[in-house]
Amino acid sequence: MEKVKCGRPVAVIGSYAVGMTIACGHFPAAGETVPGRNFEMMHGGKGSNQAVAAARLGGNVLFAGCVGCDSFGDMCMDLMKEEGITGSYIVRSETGRSTGVGLIYVNEEGENEIVIDLAANEELSAGDIDRMVPALKECSLVLMQLEINMDTVIYTAEKCRELGIPFVLNPAPYRQMPEKLPGLCDYLIPNQTEARLMLGLDARSEISDEEAASRIWEMGAGCVIMTLGADGALIVDKTGMTKVDGIRVNAVDTTGAGDTFCGSFCVALAEGKDTKEAVALAVKAAGLSVTKYGVIQSIPYRKEVDSIG
Ligand code: ATP
Repeated sequence: MEKVKCGRPVAVIGSYAVGMTIACGHFPAAGETVPGRNFEMMHGGKGSNQAVAAARLGGNVLFAGCVGCDSFGDMCMDLMKEEGITGSYIVRSETGRSTGVGLIYVNEEGENEIVIDLAANEELSAGDIDRMVPALKECSLVLMQLEINMDTVIYTAEKCRELGIPFVLNPAPYRQMPEKLPGLCDYLIPNQTEARLMLGLDARSEISDEEAASRIWEMGAGCVIMTLGADGALIVDKTGMTKVDGIRVNAVDTTGAGDTFCGSFCVALAEGKDTKEAVALAVKAAGLSVTKYGVIQSIPYRKEVDSIG
């Protein structure tokens, strides 16, 4: 594992959750118990996934979030240690809430049913952000998602603006957001679905990606980067629109591609790369991630990303 980190830290503030997957012949109906198999427990949560991606890409990473006073919370701390991520701003619930969990049933057709309890993640507060301010001032940027309390997201975005720290938001999973939030983002990174939902459209609306990305940019973000799955990403800023093509790979599981993209992009920015160069690195890292199953285990290391030229 590459643990020697240098450069100004990338702060990732967001969720941690433990995902528990169990395969079953069919989904249980109300009141039914069905036999399951292949139980697996894994690290999840968009915040920690993005922090791991940033660390594996060589970033000096600080992760902040809220977990429970339970063994799943300990799993989060262990993950940060293993990945060489600073976890000293992870707080534990003071109200006895558990660490975030996701329960995933997968049936024989490969379909899934998921129930998520964000639990302690919802407790990360403005006060927790205030306590981090001295550390944030040393960071090159702050990256957030929407799996924690929206008020905390807004507060952090405003604090970053006040302190002059670039603020990057991955608006995932999509939630209605206050109108002022896009304008507080230096970089806003939606996928195609999130972009349409942000515009108040149906997720499968026929609007072109270019039109959607431009209209989101008009909401006020400094730069919009819309990820396009296998097609790569579109960049829209005051200079216009640029497309960065995806890399051609044999995709087996795209889960976590968006998280790998966001974490990698931020590391590249922290290294001083310009937006297009940073997107090019992110597209390669995320492209590699879809060639393996799972989320954490599919996030590539910098050497693998650099080796594809
Ligand atoms: P997910 O929710 O599956 O984690 P997402 O929907 O948030 O991902 P996508 O736009 O699907 O985000 O993918 C993010 C990035 O991952 C893309 O910009 C691209 O670089 C890469 N990617 C995704 N799918 C593929 C693919 N099939 N082939 C190559 N690259 C891919």
